[in-house]
Amino acid sequence: MKKIYLFGLLILAIVGSLVGFGFNEDGDYGTKYLSQKESSGTVNAADSDEEQNNVTETNELESQLREQQLAEAAKIAPAKEVPVLTYHHIVAEDDLRDRHYKEDGSLVNSVVILEEFKKQMKWLHEHEYLTLTLDEFQQYIEGQIPLPKNSVLLTFDDGHKNNYIEAYPVMKQYGFTAVQFLITSLIDDETVPYTSEYNQYLSVEEIEETSDVFEFASHTNTFHNSEEDGTAYLISKTLPEIQEDVLASITIIGNTNALAYPYGAYDDETMEALEAIGVDMAFTVQGGNVQPGDDMLQIHRNSVRPHHSIDDFEEIVSVR
Ligand SMILES: [Zn+2]
Repeated sequence: MKKIYLFGLLILAIVGSLVGFGFNEDGDYGTKYLSQKESSGTVNAADSDEEQNNVTETNELESQLREQQLAEAAKIAPAKEVPVLTYHHIVAEDDLRDRHYKEDGSLVNSVVILEEFKKQMKWLHEHEYLTLTLDEFQQYIEGQIPLPKNSVLLTFDDGHKNNYIEAYPVMKQYGFTAVQFLITSLIDDETVPYTSEYNQYLSVEEIEETSDVFEFASHTNTFHNSEEDGTAYLISKTLPEIQEDVLASITIIGNTNALAYPYGAYDDETMEALEAIGVDMAFTVQGGNVQPGDDMLQIHRNSVRPHHSIDDFEEIVSVR
């Protein structure tokens, strides 16, 4: 009896958060309706077995509701393609240093200024974009589910600390999620103060703290590297060496079936190595959008660059 009562309360809490009262912090109806991981804060403190069961049932309900919303929105306006966006560093203008500039005075390609990033996320929010999970994205490529046309998969490469300091709060504000491809050997054991003077990587603590926005996937463990002649490790190393390194990264992350190729470098043997150890999705740096039936080990992504205006950004995320 008590269980039924508790479960009823949880259902009320979920429904309440989905229709926009009680548990939402901000935002408009349309985006909130489809956003993820919203009401979990109300039940995460569960510690008894009974409550734990309710949490599981709640999560299942949430994902069923999400699935339904996706299907309904896709019926009205289905996506023919889905864009995947790639970011690296997000740096506030005041924190830019000499090392962020090229010799010609322009910013290096891997930096997007925070102020521009905020405009881009605001644009996605205002146009009611839906940020996908890797699982949803995989099901879409496999032709298992349709997606609404305003769907996008956001990705960050390398696991930079500035993603925690600058990008995370902006994304959280809009209820967005993204994939963070970690170079797992560079994860910091200790959290240190932020500086833009040199490269810093996410700490264990920061990874845990941001897991409501980021889901973590592999960017290799130590193979984000190249030989003296410039050949990337994922091409120069043997198949077993590649598997050992990627498996090490997957173990550190916990569990993932996705990887981004460092420098976008791979060949047939790389793909063979990954496929054999359960990597279902591998992301390149080749531009273009994604369609059902695409090669899942050669997923296209569109890089957002420092010189991109908001009009350029609109061009990048807009699909047919
Ligand atoms: Zn990288």
